[in-house]
Parts: sequence; structure tokens; C-alpha cells
Amino acid sequence: MKKKIELLAPAGDLERAKVAIRYGADAVYLGGKRFSLRSRSSNFDLKDIREAVRFARQYHSAIHVTVNLIPHDEDLEGLREYLMDLQEAGVTAIIAASPTIITEARRWAPGLQVHLSTQMSSTNLECIRFYQQMGVSRVVLARECSLEQIRYLAQNSPLEIETFIHGGMCVNYSGRCTLSNAMTWRDANRGGCAQSCRWKYHLLEKDERISDADRPFSMSSKDLLAFRYIPEMIAANVASLKIEGRMKSAYYIATVVKTYRMLIDEVLQHPGPLSAQQIAYYEKEFAKAENRPTCTGFLDHIPDHRDHLYGVNGSGVTHDFLGLVLDYDEGAQQAVLQVRNHFRKGERLEVFGPTLVNQQFLADEIINEAGEQIEVCNKPMETVRIRIPFAVSAGDMIRRGQAR
Ligand code: SF4
Repeated sequence: MKKKIELLAPAGDLERAKVAIRYGADAVYLGGKRFSLRSRSSNFDLKDIREAVRFARQYHSAIHVTVNLIPHDEDLEGLREYLMDLQEAGVTAIIAASPTIITEARRWAPGLQVHLSTQMSSTNLECIRFYQQMGVSRVVLARECSLEQIRYLAQNSPLEIETFIHGGMCVNYSGRCTLSNAMTWRDANRGGCAQSCRWKYHLLEKDERISDADRPFSMSSKDLLAFRYIPEMIAANVASLKIEGRMKSAYYIATVVKTYRMLIDEVLQHPGPLSAQQIAYYEKEFAKAENRPTCTGFLDHIPDHRDHLYGVNGSGVTHDFLGLVLDYDEGAQQAVLQVRNHFRKGERLEVFGPTLVNQQFLADEIINEAGEQIEVCNKPMETVRIRIPFAVSAGDMIRRGQAR
């Protein structure tokens, strides 16, 4: 078998970090409440980061923490202590962009690896060598690199190479955008992006409106879906494959991580290009998480109008997340389920889990907390018992068996 490649997943809180690890991530990246570009939405205090590290170690997984703020002087207070705390917590790596943060980390927390953020738009060997001198051990390439360039860099770089394979993309690709600063006074490079690119705008040329009145103009890239290039990335010696999406749900994380886990393990066992049958199968599996329109970014061509969404958001999920398995009684063939979405008796449902092959069943018996047979589950977070004719485990998830 070929050398292991890291599958790196995002997490917006502790629950999602644990889901990502259980479903097969080799490492999880998360942001603390300070010094991170998504700090406004972070739920990770130091206690949670310690717990994430403890949990990850049980699965031989690792925790990376984003410290990717572009700091002004007044932002630096407490940085040194924070880096030392992360080191003491057992974090494997920080993801940083600022030379100040990189230098401080190397000086005060040398036990932390430093991974260079994609914010620094690394696209060539010379800049990788430059960051090597600063003590960086891995470079997250700019999203603007083609597959050919990724291959060249991964094969010749003195440092590990990490590259994005999946998820939402900022229309400014590697970031460093000031649209949010201009529109809201919220600095995108200091954790405040208001996603102003996705607002709806009217376009004017001189005083004449040129955008459609019913369909205002907005800017949004289609999401990245690069799974078909994974055989090439593994063969090229890429160290880490990164999924974007710290704001995504636990269901999304579970579905996407599990699908990449299966695919990567399959490619490691049987190297070589994916067959048409494999591509069709994995496309269907990824669409169960979300079927927002996708593209391949810069991997095989320079993105143009066909890779952008104008005036539409286009999000949708083909298979709704219906419930989380809390327990299973083998004798009674009943699962205890925490309901997350509306479903009815008589529907065909699908269970999937970290180690379970996706299996379908008919929801022919649902019992509520009062012990009554019910026809409909429509109270989120209600606990019900549901008959499942095969063994499932706590942490498995239930979704619709067919797209709606
Ligand atoms: S406003 Fe849009 S393009 Fe700018 S940083 Fe935020 S998400 Fe990216």
C-alpha cells in the first residue's frame, strides 16, 4: 500500500470535530476565539481544544488550529501565551499567514508545527524555500494552482504540500479581499468577513441599470469538487487533502469525510485513474451532503463564467439528515434515535456510519417517548425508537433513502 495521505477536515465546534474524526478524518482543523479568520463564529475555547486533542489521539488523528489573522499591532496582545497554551494542549500544528505569528510560534512554541495558510497565495518553489527558512513545515497551496503545478510543487518541494479538494470558495479564491471592509467596515483579513460578495447588487453603467431588475447581480464561485483528481494527487506525493467548511453541519461533515475516506482508501489499495463507474458512484454520494453547483476550480482550466453563480445561491441537499442513532437494542431490533428532521412511517430510509456500509430499511414502526406508535416524526431533538432490522451503532446517522 502507498504511503498514507492525510484527509484534513474542518470543524466549527467540538461535536463536529468528533464527527469528523469518527467518520475518518486523519486530522481536523479548527479556529479558536482569537487570532483566527473565522473567530466571530468560533466555538472553541482552550478547554474544547484540549478535549478535541484528547479525542483525536484515541483515533490516531491530529488537531490543527488556525491562527491565520493578519494582525495589526493592537491584535497581538496575548498571542505568545495563546501559542504556548496550544502547544501545551497537544495541538499538532497551527495554520498561520502572518510572518509575525510564524516567528512568534517558532520562538515560543517550537513543539507546534507551522503550516502556511493559503492566504499567502503560495504558487512557486522559491516562495516555499523562503518559508522553509522561517521554520514552516507545510505549505497550503493557493487555490489558483493547476493540477500540473500541484504535481510539480509536491514532487520538488522541501516542505509538505497541502491542497484543497472540496467545499465553498471565496470569489477571491485565496482571500485577501477588502470587499467586506468597504461595505461593512468588517475586516475580512482580521476575521470579520461579511460575505459581501454574495449580496445582491444592481449593476449600473453611468446611470443606466444593466442588471436584470428581477435577478440582481451577485458574486459566488461554484463549490470545489476535486475528488476525481485524488489518484493524481496521491501519486504526486501531496501530503494533505483539505476539505473547506468550518460553518458546515455535522451531517455534511460526516457525509463528505466518510465519502473521501472510502475513496482515498480505495485509491491507496488500487492506484490509477477512477473508472466511469467509480466517478458516478462518488458523485452521487457527495450530492447526498449538498448539491450546490460544483466546479474543479483551477485544477484543469482557468475558471470562467461557467464556474460562477450569478444571482443565485443554488444550494440544495438531495438526502435530508433525519436523525442521529443514540443506541441500538439487538434483541428488539430497535434503535434509539434523536430526530433532526421531519419524516413519516412507511418511508425508505438509509443508515450510514463510520464503519457501516450504507444500508436501507423501511420505517415501519416508530414509537415515541410515551411508548405510543406514531405516524410522523416532526419534533426536532425528540427521542424515538425505530425498528431497524440490522445492527447499527451510536453515532450512525439516518437520512432519506432516495432523493426528494
Ligand atoms: S467578501 Fe466574499 S470574496 Fe471577500 S473575503 Fe469575504 S467571502 Fe471572500
